[in-house]
This record gives sequence, C-alpha cells and structure tokens, in this order.
Amino acid sequence: MLVHGAELTFTLTRFGKPALLYDGYRFNLNNKSTGPRALWTCSRARAKSQCKATVTTFNNQIIKRNDVHHH
Ligand SMILES: [Zn+2]
Repeated sequence: MLVHGAELTFTLTRFGKPALLYDGYRFNLNNKSTGPRALWTCSRARAKSQCKATVTTFNNQIIKRNDVHHH
C-alpha cells in the first residue's frame, strides 16, 4: 500500500499489540481506538522526546497525519 509515496506496514509489537510502520517511524495503536477508525501514536510518545506525531487510519488507509516528530 502506498500513501503519499511512503510505505504503510501493519505489524505487531513484541508484546503482540498492533503497530504501524510508516515513513520510517513506528506507531502504536491507541487503546481507545475501536472500529475501522484507528488512532496511532508515535512509539516515542512516552519516551524522553515525547513525540506528538500521530496517524489516523480508516479501514487501514491513512486519512489524517500529524508528522511533527521531535527525533
Ligand atoms: Zn515520532
């Protein structure tokens, strides 16, 4: 799947939770996400960098991006 020239890959974390690889970054599925619409937060969100980048998908396609990574 290609979105804006970047590859979107759905995978699992080592804990078995859904994860998204996009544009060289890893995103974790927000716990509150239900149904076809999903909010993904950068895996560095809880790290020191407190990255606020997010991706929103609907039926596994990106519908919204906030690409402001701090790392
Ligand atoms: Zn980030």
